[in-house]
Amino acid sequence: MKKGVPVSPGVAVAHAYCVDEVITSHEPYTLDDAHLSAEVSRFERACAAVIRELDDTIARVTKQIGDEEAAIFRAHRQLLRDPTLLNKVKARICEKKLDAASSLRETLEEYAALFRQIPDEYLQERLADLRDVVGRVVVQLSRDEQPEKPLAFQEPVILIAPEIFPSQAALIDKRWIAGIITETGAATGHAAILARALGIPAVSGVRGILREVKTGDLVALDGREGHVYINPSTEVESAYRKLAREYVDFSHRLIENHEQEAISPDGVRVELLANVSGVADAQMAGQAGATGVGLYRTEYLFLTHPSVPDEEEQLAAYREVIEAAPNKLVTIRTLDLGGDKHVTYLGTRKEANPFMGFRSIRLASAYPEFFQAQLRAILRAGRYGQVSLMFPMISQLEEVQRIKRVVHRTKMSLQRSGIPFAENIPLGIMIEVPAAALCIDELLEEVDFVSIGSNDLIQYLMAADRDNPQVAHLCEPFSPALLRLLARVIRACQEHQKPVTLCGEMAGWPRCALALFGMGLRRLSMSCAAVPMIKELVRRTPLTQAEEIARRVLTMPTTGEIRGYLTRKVQEIWPNVALVDMRH
Ligand code: PEP
Ligand code: MG
Repeated sequence: MKKGVPVSPGVAVAHAYCVDEVITSHEPYTLDDAHLSAEVSRFERACAAVIRELDDTIARVTKQIGDEEAAIFRAHRQLLRDPTLLNKVKARICEKKLDAASSLRETLEEYAALFRQIPDEYLQERLADLRDVVGRVVVQLSRDEQPEKPLAFQEPVILIAPEIFPSQAALIDKRWIAGIITETGAATGHAAILARALGIPAVSGVRGILREVKTGDLVALDGREGHVYINPSTEVESAYRKLAREYVDFSHRLIENHEQEAISPDGVRVELLANVSGVADAQMAGQAGATGVGLYRTEYLFLTHPSVPDEEEQLAAYREVIEAAPNKLVTIRTLDLGGDKHVTYLGTRKEANPFMGFRSIRLASAYPEFFQAQLRAILRAGRYGQVSLMFPMISQLEEVQRIKRVVHRTKMSLQRSGIPFAENIPLGIMIEVPAAALCIDELLEEVDFVSIGSNDLIQYLMAADRDNPQVAHLCEPFSPALLRLLARVIRACQEHQKPVTLCGEMAGWPRCALALFGMGLRRLSMSCAAVPMIKELVRRTPLTQAEEIARRVLTMPTTGEIRGYLTRKVQEIWPNVALVDMRH
């Protein structure tokens, strides 16, 4: 048994599919003489298709962001027109009678071997560009081999990968993925958040697993405990299959509360909202029993879109989410890119500390037109429901003042053009940088509401990367420092009579939700999968009891003591909670 970090609850038993192999395991095949010229044409068609994709990307990036930012794609396109490269690939197809994708890969390796001999950073970056382009052409070639299914699974698999980037996680098809195991990553990382949103059990931080498991091995995983078995004995296998059935049964029974209200036995209502990254989640939010969307992470539209979505495309996407959301109630967050979420068109600069670097709202001033296109789209979409506009990663008052001026100018320009928009859209900010939490009183003067992004707040408060399993113990929401800071922010919002939500992952963890309820929080936004669980907890917990628990917790000096105490208390209130909760 291997132990990792539990990141998404649920149990799965299925065959492994190792993602590391996808990149290298395209099985090379040889061709008959009669098919060689057809293979060369297929290669040429794939290159032409990728060039067309790049043309489109270049045009959009130039228009919406700037000419300079489009340079990278022009360089990629140039590579696909390089006769030396193309001739090398075609020669391999004809002389070695090798399929196009394998010929392309071999050619790439030839370049890589050459570049390795010259330790030059510039050349290494060009090699990265070449890999990127080769990847695009290989995908194009495989599309044409398997037009329907890019990965032809016979049955759902457990995906095993070194790490999963948010852009990849957003494309995961739940029908084929029974579970996810990664070598790195932690509970509040974005891949984990997406796994939870999809209801796929997942374990992160299982170091070295790719050396021990190969595609086709049977794997059992428990995302609540963080346990993984490779080729389990028949006893373990059947025990895990039973756990999987129990988990599914229990979750199904729990979701029957979706029409009930989240009201405590002493009559206090808690608003349970959903975190979504697209229309599928927004639809799920209603089914799970959420009463609205408390956080719409718009960056996934950009991460999964083949090139930059323009204002009209954004408007259509936002409108679709609003119309699918319960009560058409949606808080739309502006782009939160950077950190671990990248789009090539905003530059490929390397930063020593990307999470503390040029990310999120900080990008807005560098790309004003890009930012304004999003604001215009959100303001326009605001007419289709009860929509609020929220800005991430605020660190200081000046940022809020500047953004408000930009919003004002954007409204004026829409008005001048006679384009209808939501004139009174509420403006809010995320509190996820300790500096903002400390200056909460001044910030509240400027905004209509706040939402606490505890995932980032923990990592900045504890100076511990939220995605690094080696420091996961520091990133726990049971930290006395975090809880005391949260209590302070919640109190300030009550004093200023401004609505406050918490939309970090801890909102969906019963032990944390219990303490937050007791601290006075009445709005929690979480992954859809957690809504029935937190509703059950609220319906069982009198506020007076939660308040007493919160009071005790705020006097405790260690994370361990708080975790132990809340674990005991939640179990007293709801003995079956362990069936669905993760054990951190
Ligand atoms: C957070 O930081 O808590 C948050 C909700 O934002 P994200 O997880 O997208 O960074
Ligand atoms: Mg955040």
